This record gives sequence, C-alpha cells and structure tokens, in this order.
Amino acid sequence: MKELSRIHSAVQASATLAVNSKFKQMKAEGIPVVGFGAGEPDFDTPDHIKDAAIRAIREGKTKYTPTSGTIPLRKAISFRMKEDLDIDFEYDSIVVSNGAKACLYAAMMALLDPGDEIILPAPYWVSYAEMIRMCGGVPVIVNTTEAQSFKITPRQLEDAVTDRTKAIIINNPSNPTGMIYNAAELRALADVCLKNDLYIIADEIYYRLCYDGKTFTSIASLGEDVREHCIVINGVSKSYSMTGWRCGFAACGDKRVTTVMANCLSHAMGCIGAMNQEAMQEALLGPQDSVDEMRKVFEERRDYIVERMNSIEGVSCLKPDGAFYAMMNIEKLIGRDLGGRTIRDADDFSMAFLEKGLVAVVSCCAFGAPNYVRWTYATSMETIREGLDRLEKFLKDPG
Ligand code: PMP
Repeated sequence: MKELSRIHSAVQASATLAVNSKFKQMKAEGIPVVGFGAGEPDFDTPDHIKDAAIRAIREGKTKYTPTSGTIPLRKAISFRMKEDLDIDFEYDSIVVSNGAKACLYAAMMALLDPGDEIILPAPYWVSYAEMIRMCGGVPVIVNTTEAQSFKITPRQLEDAVTDRTKAIIINNPSNPTGMIYNAAELRALADVCLKNDLYIIADEIYYRLCYDGKTFTSIASLGEDVREHCIVINGVSKSYSMTGWRCGFAACGDKRVTTVMANCLSHAMGCIGAMNQEAMQEALLGPQDSVDEMRKVFEERRDYIVERMNSIEGVSCLKPDGAFYAMMNIEKLIGRDLGGRTIRDADDFSMAFLEKGLVAVVSCCAFGAPNYVRWTYATSMETIREGLDRLEKFLKDPG
C-alpha cells in the first residue's frame, strides 16, 4: 500500500497516552487509582449557559452559521475583550472555531509555509509543537529554567530569531508552568517582536484564572502596533467550565490572518454547532459570578497542593500564579530506583508512580521539561489530599 503522509505520520500521539491508557485499564480492573491528568475544570457548566443552548435548540437554531461564528457572538467576544482586557477587536477580526485548539491550528495554517519557524518557549503545552509540524513548520524550542520562573527573556527571544521566523507563541498564564508574564515583561518581549516583525500568537485561555489578586495584562493591550501583530487565542473552555462544548476564538490584529483562517476553516470545518454558539454568547454576556467562584476554589487548592509538595522530601514546585497546574520538580529523584524502575526522566517517574503509587500524573517530557511532572488541581480537594498522601508514601516506601 502507498505510504501515508510523512508530515502527519510523524505526529506523536499524545505523550500522556501510555500513562493514561494504563490508568484507565487499572481503573477498569477495580484498582483504586487516582488521576491528575485531565486539563479541565471538575465543575459543571453553569445552568444559565446550558439553558441558553436548550432554548436555542427549541427555537430551531440548528442550522449552519457563518464559518467565523454568528455576528452577535463575535460582538459578544469583542465586548468581553474590551471589558476584561481593554483591547479593541472588531467583530470581523474574530474567528470562532472548535475550541482554542482549532483556532490555534487555523492560525498556524494561516502563517506557515514549509520550513517557516515559530519560536516556542519551553516548557510548552504539548500540542503547540505538533500543530506547528502538522502545518509544515519548525518549532524552535527555547529552554527556560526554574530560576527564571520559566519565562523567556527578550535576549533569548532575539537570539532565536532567524529569517524564517514567523511568530512566537506566548502562553500566558502558562500550561504547564502556571507562570504569568507581567506588563513590563510583555512590553520587553513585544519590542523584540516588533523589531523583527514577528506575529505573536498569544494563547490567553487561562486569563481568568490568576491568583493572589494578580491582574492579567494581555500583550495585545500594549499598543496598536503590538495589537496589529497579535493573534489572541481564547475561549470559554477553562473559564466557564465548557471544555466539551468546543467553543474557542482567535482575534487577529491583522485582518488578512482572519480572512485566511476563515477561508481554511470554511472548507475543513464549516462552523461550530449553532446552539453551542448561543451558549458561548450567554457565557460571555451573562452573569460572571461563577467564574470568580471557581477561581477562588482553584486558588485554595493551589495553596494546598504547593505547600504539601514543597514539604515532601525529594520533590518541589514553584508556586503557580495562574491556570490550574502544579509542575513538580523531580530532579532529585533522577538516577534513583523507584517502584522497580530506574528513574531517568519524568516518563519513568510517572509510570512508576502509577504502577506502585496508584497515582496518574502527566510527564512533562513531551512538554520540553523532562525533569518535571504536571499535576492538575482542577479536581476535588479530597482527591488532591489522597494523591499527595500517596506521593509521600511512594517516596518513603516505593516498593
Ligand atoms: N491552550 C492551552 C494552553 C490549553 O491548555 C488548552 C487545553 N488543554 C487549549 C489551548 C485548548 O482549549 P480548548 O478546549 O478550548 O480547545
């Protein structure tokens, strides 16, 4: 039979798959495993949002819409961006698609020709690197360290730019590190981007989840010249607990990008569900109290998980400013034998911890951080407590 696409055959199945499928198998066998893998809030979608979708179905809003989303929805996005972030994006610079994921992918389709580069600060969310490759591009990975709070410096950015560089991805707050770039840090990075005429893919999907009263600055709000270079990626999945609704958007300072994205999506995806769009509109325009309530709960869980993690011998964790992940440093465990395995990296640790400690965490090997594992605290306090009890026990007596 003919060869399959070389580009697409090289795409790695989600790196968390091995641990995840083992986790599911153990669960099915009745083994009492606990999981910290899924990057989705454990809360239900608020009722007023669900009601909007039900109403839309009853009213017959069950047909195709424009590819980029209905005009009222895009106006609602525009309103919320102005309200929360003080940025002006007209509705016709916005494209709605199947979660932030599809928007990111479309943005990369719009920017990349084969061999073009996108600068990707590590640790990074695993899908960025694969999406860039799927579009024929090259992810240029720039490593950051815990000592620099996992934030790329303007100097590092400048050094990574070549004549093939099209863009940088700035994920703020970050998955998996939870770090937030402040306005001054963003200004310095934006200056390098403007100097080199780079697009800025600003993935701000966690912007409503900032802790310790920290205020969030969107890089696109730093000035018209910066905004013009930005493709802001966002959505309702994380803020409104709507992961399964698949509602995300991209707001583009350069309307040529909007047009190319919409053209590509019109052929490949059509539009997202009409009733889901009604729900997304309600999320953005309706009462916002549930967002704050969820944020408060996440903050309490973060405080607990970080404090406990840092009290356990052999592991540590920086206090994340936002999102709902804690990235645990396992450097001190490298070379040790735990649970019948020699720990060479986070893949080994996560497998040993699952097999013997009965806890599933995400190895950050595929996130460009092989000495770290990611725990999500988008799960109940009870589960978090149990997971950390098991970590303590596993490290004391790994079997
Ligand atoms: N960006 C980041 C940084 C994420 O963590 C995720 C979800 N894990 C997404 C985008 C995708 O979000 P959505 O569910 O809206 O596709």
